[in-house]
Amino acid sequence: MRKQFTSFLLIITLLLFTNSLNISTKLYDFNHTEVKNTIAYLSSNNFKGRLSGTEGNLEVTAFIRNQFKNLGLEPFNGNYYDQFETNYPHRLQDNPFLRIIDKNGAILKEYQYGKDYKEEMLNFKNNYVVFNNKDALYQAETALQVSKGKDSFVFFVPENNKLTFRSSFMGNEDKLHSMYVMLTKETLADINKHIGQNKKIVCFIPFDVRKTTLNNVVGVIKGKDSKAPPIVISGHFDHLGADLSGMVYGGALDNASGISFVLEFTKYIKSLGPPDRDIIIAAFNAEEFGCLGSNHFVEKNLDRLKDARAYNFDMIGSNSVPLSIMGAKADSDKTDFVRSITSTFNKSKVNYNYLFEDASDHEAFRKHNIDAVTFCDSDMSKIHTPEDKVEYISTDAIDRAFNIVSKEIVKEGFGSDPMLIHYRKIFMYSLIAGLILSILYSIQVRNH
Ligand SMILES: [Zn+2]
Repeated sequence: MRKQFTSFLLIITLLLFTNSLNISTKLYDFNHTEVKNTIAYLSSNNFKGRLSGTEGNLEVTAFIRNQFKNLGLEPFNGNYYDQFETNYPHRLQDNPFLRIIDKNGAILKEYQYGKDYKEEMLNFKNNYVVFNNKDALYQAETALQVSKGKDSFVFFVPENNKLTFRSSFMGNEDKLHSMYVMLTKETLADINKHIGQNKKIVCFIPFDVRKTTLNNVVGVIKGKDSKAPPIVISGHFDHLGADLSGMVYGGALDNASGISFVLEFTKYIKSLGPPDRDIIIAAFNAEEFGCLGSNHFVEKNLDRLKDARAYNFDMIGSNSVPLSIMGAKADSDKTDFVRSITSTFNKSKVNYNYLFEDASDHEAFRKHNIDAVTFCDSDMSKIHTPEDKVEYISTDAIDRAFNIVSKEIVKEGFGSDPMLIHYRKIFMYSLIAGLILSILYSIQVRNH
């Protein structure tokens, strides 16, 4: 009787062992080096900063589409591309100038691009202005505003007197000024002096605003129940391009990192087998133009996204800060979805921060009351400057995000398969139990 019971236990243990071995060998080992290699590729000078509307952005769009295809994602609604129209800042072939001229138009002084002045990306509704002290001027210590009819031009001294920071392009909104130019405080003082002497200032920045067609890239892992609300995993792939001297804003952390994380993470999810519900993988374009890609995607798919849960990744790769759970401005730590994610952090003993800002693509979902957060290593020390480079990306931070998000996705998307969650433990326990039972069994066999 005892012997039969031991054999029975042994068989069960062996079954558990082979089953968990089977799952564990099928499971893809998430690899932070792969993530970092993709970040290096996407932030390289090849793609010149991935500005929406440029060749580099188009090439990255195609690259991601091919990756989705190779990963075995199905096209979302029959097409990987999700098309939309937008304004974008178009680079003209001329050179910029900022000059002081006399009454006859002769050049008295020429300022140096990149050293004395530089364009801000915010808008280029107009790109040329001539003015003197007869114009409507607003002069402050760190800014000069020139109004010309319905146009207004802003010259300003950026923080720390540095011309390296580049804002997002906001040319899709009407209320903004026509053009923004950064000046060092020395340049601004010098210009004010010349205005006082009734000289003319002339400035030209070779960008204008044009229309273009862009694409998000969207794929799907089909779940067992495609009618159930889906999970969305996303990141934006666009960035801020290059300045007029050709200096590239590579955007390694913002957000080559997030999209590279999503690509590698997708390999892991695919290896878990079919999820309970659809998992949509979305690469958004034109986030730097005011989350245009995500807004387009959400508004077009409101029915499909009802009760969905969206996980967005924007800046994964700095461990000098805790990982942030970013909700929308109107959210708080009491918001259900935020609380659910917080419990995963607490169980994993990972440090976290809350941010409640409409500062990334989660806002497109939250606007329509769809559960969404952005995971963000909110290290602002280098982003939107040419220093946002792959060499500063931390693989520990990549692993930290994976540690949390893998648990979240298993919880949300594979809840009916508890074996998956504990496969490593089951594997070890059944190995040990199997050994003990085998010894017991052989002892009993010998005694008979
Ligand atoms: Zn970003």
